[in-house]
Amino acid sequence: MPDLALVIRDISEEMAQRPDRGAVADYIPELAGIDPNQFGIAVIDGEGQVFTGGDSETPFSIQSVSKVFTLTLALGMVGDRLWRRVGREPSGNPFNSIVQLERERGVPRNPFINAGAIAVTDLILSGHEPREALGEILRFLQFLAQDPTIAIDERVAASEKRTGFRNTALANYMKSFGVIENPVDYTLGVYFHHCAIAMNCRQLATAGRFLAHNGRNPATGHSVVSAERARRINAIMLTCGHYDGSGEFAYRVGLPGKSGVGGGILAVAPGKASIAVWAPGLDTAGNSHLGRVALEQLTQRMGWSVFGV
Ligand code: GLN
Repeated sequence: MPDLALVIRDISEEMAQRPDRGAVADYIPELAGIDPNQFGIAVIDGEGQVFTGGDSETPFSIQSVSKVFTLTLALGMVGDRLWRRVGREPSGNPFNSIVQLERERGVPRNPFINAGAIAVTDLILSGHEPREALGEILRFLQFLAQDPTIAIDERVAASEKRTGFRNTALANYMKSFGVIENPVDYTLGVYFHHCAIAMNCRQLATAGRFLAHNGRNPATGHSVVSAERARRINAIMLTCGHYDGSGEFAYRVGLPGKSGVGGGILAVAPGKASIAVWAPGLDTAGNSHLGRVALEQLTQRMGWSVFGV
């Protein structure tokens, strides 16, 4: 078995120096000013040993990585009824695409594209005040990461709200089909805020541990979801977690993973490790470029792909 600490050191050194860094998301003005020269990684193995490299303690905007946790929370609240509101097929389209929604009568393809995640947020919101729903999501992340200091970056949330024209269009369009129950403003308010949660790689890898260990966090013994549900969430991460880059991610990395336009990726090596990487520069599909490169090297050297060594 290769030495994980050494592998992470090699990867961190290489990623700090590579010239191909991708481009930071600029459609959310507050993210446009992030320094693309940063890179962080955290890996937590089955025994709970934490291995880190680079800027693993620097908080970043988790953006769409939050969608894994809102999906988990919503499934806990409404169970398989969720699948009446949203599908579970890869979209083959950009994360903020509108065209598919019209053809499919307002039912989003999966819970990880923006439309699907907004529909999931709306489910969590139903029967609650926006502040309560948001508090629920934030506390869930604090609980999973065992860290009550995790917070929302209000400036990022406000910045996205000011320029969230496309997400507003998606939400209104779904509302016209009855897929959104609550006032569009409320649902989007909660959505923009959960995307604006700030975490570092170590916190994110900790929060994802239940997905790597059959729904249980081995550190606390808490069962977060059933083993069956963890397996299914992983399946959706594998097929849909990187939008129309999901096939390429499966081909190169071979792990369930979820990306966000803040440059973070949470990846799950079932039975082995929970992994978080962060590099703010994105590829054309909106996924962290060096995050993917780093994960490709990690899985290759450790033999962690779910498809074989
Ligand atoms: N908050 C972002 C948006 O809605 C999330 C997108 C992403 O991370 N892919 O556009």
